[in-house]
Amino acid sequence: MSAEVHGGRAKCLQRLIRLEMPVPQTVALSFHAVRRIAAGTPPDVTEILRHFGPTPLLSVRPSSQDPDWGGPGAILNVGICDTLHATLCDEIGERAATSLYLRFIQAYATHVARLDDDLFEVPEDPTHETLAVALRTYEEEAEEPFPQEVERQLGDILGSMARAWEGTSARLLRKAKGAPEGAGLGLVVQQLALGVGQGACGSGVIQFVNPATGERQVTGRYLSQSQGREALEDPAGAVYLTRDPRGPSLQDEYPQVFAELLEMGERARTRLREEMQIEFTLDGGRLSVLDAVRVHRASRAKVRIAVELAQDGIISREDAVMRVDPAALSELLHRQVALDAERDRIANGIAASPGAASGRIVFTANDAQASAARGEDCVLVRRETSPEDIRGMHAAAAVLTVRGGVTSHAAVIGRGLGLPCVVGASDLLIDRKAKRLTAPDGRVFREGDVITVDGTTGDVLAGQPAMLEASLDGAFRTLLQWADAVRDIGVRANADTPADAQTARNFEAEGIGLCRTEHMFFEGERLSVMREMIFADKGEDRAAVLERLLPMQRADFADLFSIMGGYPVCIRLFDPPLHEFLPSDKAGIRELANVLDRPLSEVTARIEALEEYNPMLGMRGVRLGVTVPEIYEMQARAIFEAAILSKMSGARVVPEIMIPLVSAMREVELVKNRIDAVAVNVHNETGADLEYRLGVMVETPRAALRAGDIAQHSAFLSFGTNDLTQMTYGLSRDDAGRFMSAYVQQKVYAEDPFHTLDLDGVGELLSMGAERARASEPGIVLSICGEHGGSRSAIEFSRQHGLDYVSCSPFRVPIARLSAAQLALAERESNRSLA
Ligand code: PEP
Ligand code: MG
Repeated sequence: MSAEVHGGRAKCLQRLIRLEMPVPQTVALSFHAVRRIAAGTPPDVTEILRHFGPTPLLSVRPSSQDPDWGGPGAILNVGICDTLHATLCDEIGERAATSLYLRFIQAYATHVARLDDDLFEVPEDPTHETLAVALRTYEEEAEEPFPQEVERQLGDILGSMARAWEGTSARLLRKAKGAPEGAGLGLVVQQLALGVGQGACGSGVIQFVNPATGERQVTGRYLSQSQGREALEDPAGAVYLTRDPRGPSLQDEYPQVFAELLEMGERARTRLREEMQIEFTLDGGRLSVLDAVRVHRASRAKVRIAVELAQDGIISREDAVMRVDPAALSELLHRQVALDAERDRIANGIAASPGAASGRIVFTANDAQASAARGEDCVLVRRETSPEDIRGMHAAAAVLTVRGGVTSHAAVIGRGLGLPCVVGASDLLIDRKAKRLTAPDGRVFREGDVITVDGTTGDVLAGQPAMLEASLDGAFRTLLQWADAVRDIGVRANADTPADAQTARNFEAEGIGLCRTEHMFFEGERLSVMREMIFADKGEDRAAVLERLLPMQRADFADLFSIMGGYPVCIRLFDPPLHEFLPSDKAGIRELANVLDRPLSEVTARIEALEEYNPMLGMRGVRLGVTVPEIYEMQARAIFEAAILSKMSGARVVPEIMIPLVSAMREVELVKNRIDAVAVNVHNETGADLEYRLGVMVETPRAALRAGDIAQHSAFLSFGTNDLTQMTYGLSRDDAGRFMSAYVQQKVYAEDPFHTLDLDGVGELLSMGAERARASEPGIVLSICGEHGGSRSAIEFSRQHGLDYVSCSPFRVPIARLSAAQLALAERESNRSLA
């Protein structure tokens, strides 16, 4: 028997039987048999019933290959009829027996006779009369008496379950959960262990780990027969599963049963190599195991359980690495409000995307972008978000909406961006015109006030509580160490600031693969200096501004080198779309004129002169380096001086300098000559030996095509898949959002190529570039550093094409480490099976 033929439940029951657990008599129908039933061949019920004695009482449960693919609900009490009901009344009491009968009538009426289920509601305290009414209603509605023969009942139930699996809605539902087109359903017919006889009787579910944390701990529930329903509602008189100060427990009252359950749990754990949840009944003190399924677990628990199973020698470390879905890590990787911080709660909504962030309130996407340009963290507050808000969401530290649920636009995008997000905080009153937010307690928050969004709990807090930085600990760290032991591709982080770099180190990135230096200049005072530099049209003016920028950059780089403690740091020279640094409205221009101490007309004229029709294809990247070389020279000097400083404090630093937006080899030659000259000057001034590596960012199609030439002047090439996607498709990365959903919906593109690396087109340029670069310089280091870098498909592609590392946002580093390890293990496994 296998899960591929009879389904997971049947397979598991077979294992439990082999483990000598007291599983009631069971017959499993294969996918093939169920398919034949769905196609109209009646099941051989005589053969099935042969296994169950003269008056069987049965359950029928679905057994799909993967329990997550759904399936029809279980149907219990098949076989009950007037005669059996009468017998059961004597054995277990009239109320219990009638309740069983009514439940079956309801299930049969709805699933087989397709009658409304509310015609057959089962009251809490059913009487003989209730039963008579149900049977009469059935007869009137179905125009036949309720079937009394178990053969007929079972045959009909099997038929209805088989057909339900083949129905369109069931197909669509399981397809959405990743089931293949031809996924089969098995059915399991089992003797019902009632757990309602005389003596110690009841039913329950027991698990041996805490499903939230993964700690080993007995949890679950137990319902003793004497408790019945009332006891659940009124816990007084309840029997708890484990020792409990509120009342008696199974653990204390029936210690031998409890010990038996613990022993079964241990047996299941070691032999099934999984943390199982066991469904059991207790009938006159006798235990029966009805089913055992994998414990449903939260992300944190997934990691801990896998690690502990490996530490206990039950599974291998590689198995543990394969068992944790990389996406599960993302939930655990975000900043959180510190546990002991004071929480001044304003409102509570739906926790839509984990992590917490504080910022000043803004009410529009434009204001969020303006705030980011000032280097100020903001929280974007909207009634609900729409695609027009995406750029604002990118710019915000967190998003809060008053409407929406877990699948609303804000929630989906927030999760995608790793942005803390609370949606549906409907107690908050938002007045966009007045730019005001009113809390249920009457407090009013205005634009610019600082609030905190806790996307893990759904809380909205006033002010800025202390935060706990995300970092790996315990099981997490162990799992990722095991992943690193099998991983065969490097993982670095894209980090621009010391905070990013620190996060990257916390997540054990093996260096910085991309530091976008222009991002170091979006802040207040620095932005002004940067603007002055852009405005300087005379050489001496520019030199004066660069003099001021030099120490800032030197300190920035020294910080990065010291945080990265000897790991490589790849610094990309300025790649500023200049317009991003200039004000566009009158007030901003006036403010700039003030700072520059120049007439408004002159500033306006200069901004107009700098205006480009298509700035993303204009004076960017190396084009600035070629036409205004002093800027790159200043940056190179800052890098070298910072490296010398760091070396003096004992760190080993080999800086990597990367040239952006290259499209021709000559650009590289020109920049390289100048940087080499700066290195010579710094060496002559300081006497220090300088070691550095110069590389090129391959992000224009021409650079990919000419990678062979470019490689001759480069120690490394890093593929910038954002610009490369933009230019390969001729698709603006900033504007494509307007029509992307229509394009994806109409299947023009399978996915948004800015989110999912286009392996066919962009991928061809990448593989061509990698091949040509290696043919020309076999030892050249190759990598990907666009936003795609951390995704599984980009890592898979990079491994296939022999790239040395991927670089991704710091929060994706652990996910990338795990994905890379899983890909290496999967490859190892497929090679083994081919051999
Ligand atoms: C890229 O183009 O892929 C890249 C990483 O650079 P940026 O996003 O800064 O243009
Ligand atoms: Mg780029």
